[in-house]
Amino acid sequence: MPIWNPEYESMPRDDLEKLQGQRLSQIAAYVYHKIPIYRRKFQEMGLTPDDIQGLDDLKRLPFTTKQDLRDEYPFSNFAVPIEDVVRIHASSGTTGKPTVGGYTRKDLALWAEVMARTVTSCGVTNKDIAHNAYGYGLFTGGLGFHLGYQTVGATVVPVSGGMTRRQLMLLEDFGATVMTCTPSYSLVLAEEAAELGINFRDRMKVRVGIFGAEPWTEEMRREIEERLGLEAYDIYGLTEIIGPGVSVECEYHNGMHINEDHFLPEIIDPKTGEQLPYGAEGELVFTTLTKEAMPVIRYRTRDLTVLHAEKCSCGRTVVRMEKVRGRTDDMLIVRGVNIFPSLIEKTLLNVDGLEPQYQIIVDRSKEQLDRLEIRVEANHRFFDPIDTRVLDQLRADAESALLQTLGIRTDVKLLGPNSLERSLGKAKRVVDKRELYEG
Ligand code: ADP
Ligand code: ZN
Repeated sequence: MPIWNPEYESMPRDDLEKLQGQRLSQIAAYVYHKIPIYRRKFQEMGLTPDDIQGLDDLKRLPFTTKQDLRDEYPFSNFAVPIEDVVRIHASSGTTGKPTVGGYTRKDLALWAEVMARTVTSCGVTNKDIAHNAYGYGLFTGGLGFHLGYQTVGATVVPVSGGMTRRQLMLLEDFGATVMTCTPSYSLVLAEEAAELGINFRDRMKVRVGIFGAEPWTEEMRREIEERLGLEAYDIYGLTEIIGPGVSVECEYHNGMHINEDHFLPEIIDPKTGEQLPYGAEGELVFTTLTKEAMPVIRYRTRDLTVLHAEKCSCGRTVVRMEKVRGRTDDMLIVRGVNIFPSLIEKTLLNVDGLEPQYQIIVDRSKEQLDRLEIRVEANHRFFDPIDTRVLDQLRADAESALLQTLGIRTDVKLLGPNSLERSLGKAKRVVDKRELYEG
């Protein structure tokens, strides 16, 4: 498959690392001179920009956390005056103030470039009609993809989120060949189609789906590809770095290629901050090498993954990151056991008869014991008429599968079709009621 910018995406690693080193020392000087919080951080560590000569000096630089960016809300961490900023985006900000992203004209051109690489990696060309169901607005998903599709010359349909039936009509009438949204919303589209008596697989021409913005497992990919009849690509990004366009899979689906000439990745031990080698799991950290309005140095994403640097069969030489296992702050500690929601998803989807719709509820009993309840929808065929014998068996199967993978007992509650609330954007899988009792 074609590569949008082979000069950079397939650059020999030695050359790439040299380029990254040069850009790193430039950006270190830039943030030192332009952004007060970085100058403060450098001074506290006794660092000057001259200390940063190449990639080996990366680990000497200070980290940036989400809290650092919140403290500078809204614009104090911009490196340029506001009159040079032509666009603002923001993260959803479920807890407290959102983090803001600012873009100069040059940053938007960079975004267009990395998004053109992204959609090309998924096989999109100017012949495609692209149904873009990511939200348009402060969220980076909608406008980010919009730029990418336009740049490669695809016909973009800026449908944004919501009005699911209308989306189905447009998908069919316009003959979309590519679609983008969260993985959870892709299932909502398939379900709504089924409700209307339409088989999404057969009726729609969509051959490629580019899904991201939330963690999803290989099991979920299988489910989505089967129901929608398309090839599903994972895409990763975050507002603090640029939005979508940080990394994406190629046709080999063996990890997401990072646009490393612009976004320098590292993996660290989340507890000690120590840099870890390729192949080790830890927290993903990014330094933006070329951004103008809002460069960040060693930004801690809180996302857990593994990096691999071997050349890929597609010809790209940039590193690949594995599917994100979850955020460090999504990890549940239940009765002393660490549990990632993605492990629960994987286990449930391997039980035949369960639907890919679930919610995890953690609660604490009067005796201070944590309880893990998993609500999951069972296939509609068990409800019409209701077959309690089969449902009891299914519940027992799910509980024993979860006991085996998690190592602790859970209570599974089976629900009928469409019982759980569907999301137009990022799905909310975990409800932690224990927070109510704290303090
Ligand atoms: P918010 O922090 O409000 O969710 P963003 O929209 O910037 O704001 O979301 C970025 C976060 O979304 C990432 O840090 C990561 O946790 C998650 N994310 C994005 N893409 C993926 C993906 N493909 N797989 C797993 N998680 C993802
Ligand atoms: Zn590849």
